[in-house]
Amino acid sequence: MIETDRWPLTRLFEQMHDAVYLLDPLSSNVLWTNRAGWEMLGLGADEVLDHSVLSLQKDVVGLPQWAEIAQVIRSQSPYVFVGRHRHRDGHEVPVEVQTTCFVHDGQELFLSVARDVTRRLALEHELHARERQLWFALNEAADGLWDWDMRDDSVFFSPQLERMLGYGPQEMRPTLQTWEANLHPEDAPRVRQLLLEHLEGLRVRYEAEYRLRNRNGHYLWVHDHGRVCDRDAKGCPTRVVGMVQDITDRKHLQLSLELQASNDGLTGLPNRRRGEAELTEELDRCLRNGASLGLCLIDLDHFKRINDVHGHLQGDEVLKEVSGLLEAALRRGDLAFRWGGEEFVLVCPGADATGVLSVARRLQELLAEHPWAQRLGLERLTASIGTAVAPVHGADLRKLLASADAALYRAKANGRDRIEMAGAEGLDSGLGVSSAQAGRPTWVGRP
Ligand code: GH3
Ligand code: MG
Ligand code: MG
Repeated sequence: MIETDRWPLTRLFEQMHDAVYLLDPLSSNVLWTNRAGWEMLGLGADEVLDHSVLSLQKDVVGLPQWAEIAQVIRSQSPYVFVGRHRHRDGHEVPVEVQTTCFVHDGQELFLSVARDVTRRLALEHELHARERQLWFALNEAADGLWDWDMRDDSVFFSPQLERMLGYGPQEMRPTLQTWEANLHPEDAPRVRQLLLEHLEGLRVRYEAEYRLRNRNGHYLWVHDHGRVCDRDAKGCPTRVVGMVQDITDRKHLQLSLELQASNDGLTGLPNRRRGEAELTEELDRCLRNGASLGLCLIDLDHFKRINDVHGHLQGDEVLKEVSGLLEAALRRGDLAFRWGGEEFVLVCPGADATGVLSVARRLQELLAEHPWAQRLGLERLTASIGTAVAPVHGADLRKLLASADAALYRAKANGRDRIEMAGAEGLDSGLGVSSAQAGRPTWVGRP
């Protein structure tokens, strides 16, 4: 045993949390150890001192192996190895041991410092588990990840995101430009605006549904959301991370349901529900711009007779052909709707009385010229048309429709196959403004 007085510095070692052993290279005996040295093993000091270091650890067996290791320590001092110490209660203590060879008073000695690395190994294990989770999230999860470094506009696209868009590994150039270039032009301004609002702090997070072009040039519908995750010293965003999900199937279903809800199944024209929404929008836009808007209400004449004589199915065919003629009568920017039954509406944004009358006449001509006899065995087909112009005959949806309805009523009363323009008399009769009519403008079932 070595006297601690001969080794005054050993008192300092007592303060250390790492185990320190002074070893005799030849016998492998422990000549001195600090408190941590015996406590780490669950032993008393006297159970360690003058015992072979081989009895304390599990990785070196027998003196011949120790002699080989001692040789390596001499040549590679300081020598580091990771091994296991044997605790009294049987469990292993993983340690990282650094051993230095030196000579004191002509005696060769090894100084080993052993650090308990249980905690570090646990952290490494946890980190490894996290890495596996991250690897799974990046490679296997349904969502693709992007990571935008705003300082140089570089973007990391995860393998899943590359796969979603049909690219092989590292095929997508990792820049913001790659993403921007593949945005659908109709969606791009809205998406950029949403992102900008998040960067400016106006939105808690960025979230958008839009179309993104894949490698084949087809567009996928995606749901994209992200957040600023790093800022510079001034608080300006420097890094944004987000996830992209392919929602093409759901979006197509949603769009087709929306189409079904807003389109007429027989003629394919948008229906009254959509018509009221679009008419309101167009009306607002025209009036805001100081422009007028023309409207035609079209009701086929004696349509019931067609059903009675030729059958309902033939009646359906007539309605389909009429919708084709309506579309042919439209000017650019005009809109046609099947309002219900054998009734249709044409909306002509920007048209004045002359403009809307010319559209109505064009339709009348198309109906007159159509080869009805040849195509469906009808003698002829005519329509009565009531026209009105906003804001003269009504500056909102209900009043405008009521004015056109009054004109249509006049067209029917005056013998059908006629076009009538709304006038003061329609409003005087109270059709445009009465509260009873106001909520439900309709001319369905008029005698
Ligand atoms: P008027 O000149 O006064 O408008 O006479 P009309 O016979 O056209 O008017 P009425 O309102 O009495 O009849 C409309 C008919 O339109 C009755 C209805 O069966 C028919 N109809 C409504 N929707 C459809 C449809 O989708 N298919 C067919 N085949 N007929 C329809
Ligand atoms: Mg009719
Ligand atoms: Mg009718």
